[in-house]
Amino acid sequence: MTTVAIPQHPVSTTDKSFSDLGISEPILRTIEGFGFLNPTPIQAAVIPTALTGRDVIGLAQTGSGKTAAFVLPLAERLTHGQGVRGLILAPTREIALQTKAFLDLFGKEHELRTACLIGGVKMKPQFDELRAQPDIVVATPGRLLDHVQRRSVSLDKIEMLVLDEADHMLDLGFLPQIRDVLRRLSRDRQTMMFSATMPDSIEMIARDFMRDPVRVDIMPEGAAAEGITHRLYLVKQEDKRPALLALLQQELGSTLVFTRRKVDAEWLFHILERQGHPVARIHADQSQGKRVSALKTFREGQHRILVATDIAGRGIDIPGIEQVINFDIPENVEDYVHRAGRTARGRALGIVSTIATWQDLPMVRKIEETLGEKVPRCAVAGVEAWEELEKKPAARRNRV
Ligand code: AMP
Repeated sequence: MTTVAIPQHPVSTTDKSFSDLGISEPILRTIEGFGFLNPTPIQAAVIPTALTGRDVIGLAQTGSGKTAAFVLPLAERLTHGQGVRGLILAPTREIALQTKAFLDLFGKEHELRTACLIGGVKMKPQFDELRAQPDIVVATPGRLLDHVQRRSVSLDKIEMLVLDEADHMLDLGFLPQIRDVLRRLSRDRQTMMFSATMPDSIEMIARDFMRDPVRVDIMPEGAAAEGITHRLYLVKQEDKRPALLALLQQELGSTLVFTRRKVDAEWLFHILERQGHPVARIHADQSQGKRVSALKTFREGQHRILVATDIAGRGIDIPGIEQVINFDIPENVEDYVHRAGRTARGRALGIVSTIATWQDLPMVRKIEETLGEKVPRCAVAGVEAWEELEKKPAARRNRV
């Protein structure tokens, strides 16, 4: 199994202490040893409630410290050797692996073992992990059900369930699998759900499968994080590529480029590579090993540019990304917010540059409504800006 380190970068914290939240002494030492001094707002709000065993809904994004908000209560309440009692469903392999890294660290005190059941990798090592008496399973929904059907894992003893990035899991089409898993679990369990948004289908899951949950909402005012400068480059369709190349010359920092489709991520990667750019790519058609390696070389600065699709790029938790470029405008506003959230992590500043054509203008308007401001129209050297027609009151024109 690939080992993944816990990312560490600046986040806003509260002035509370972890011991105020009810964390026990040995685990406090691990937290301190790792370098977390104070809890983040989501941790301060979720941990005391979660420790009482109540259901919790946390409205929080990646970058808020939400992983430790559910991992610490699991680490406190579970002990080793009584079957699989904790289950975490995560949308992507990267998020699952990162969560396992948190569990390995904070679960050390209670000797907790975690099996990671993610799709796209061989089953055999996962059978081995399951034979080694895990106490917690962190899984992507499809692969978990695969194991359930083969009876290589039993969900009978699950006492603590976490649905991480629930809205992201729904976007990926996991709703039927999630419902299937939830129906198999004992009713007598604690459920914690984390999501950046609360669409109706998530409210329905909460209504059908949770018991009187406490809601914790720590989303910042307005959907997007502070510290982000948004820019819009309106161009002709055939000028999208030159605009991207010019933008990459203009801002020389670490840059994440989003495309909508996997084939376009692949295509852009090759174009940029041929131009001599230090570039890596990440999309769902790659093997797990390639994806982990792309993230690593980007994180370590070997590649300044990472080309990603929404699904692969959404959970990316890398500090120091200075610019996000939307080579294709996202399909919906939530994706824009998520893409933008990859930059300006913690207290850093970041730029989100969107390359768009006139056909994308309806989506631009929706994004502006959500941001609560007009995104400044910008031009990049050597590329003609597409002139938007300002809406004028309807006037009769003379026909000629
Ligand atoms: P997450 O939202 O769980 O992806 O966490 C975002 C980042 O915050 C990760 O790099 C964590 O290592 C870091 N982090 C989480 N909690 C704390 C804390 N209490 N103090 C400092 N850093 C933290």
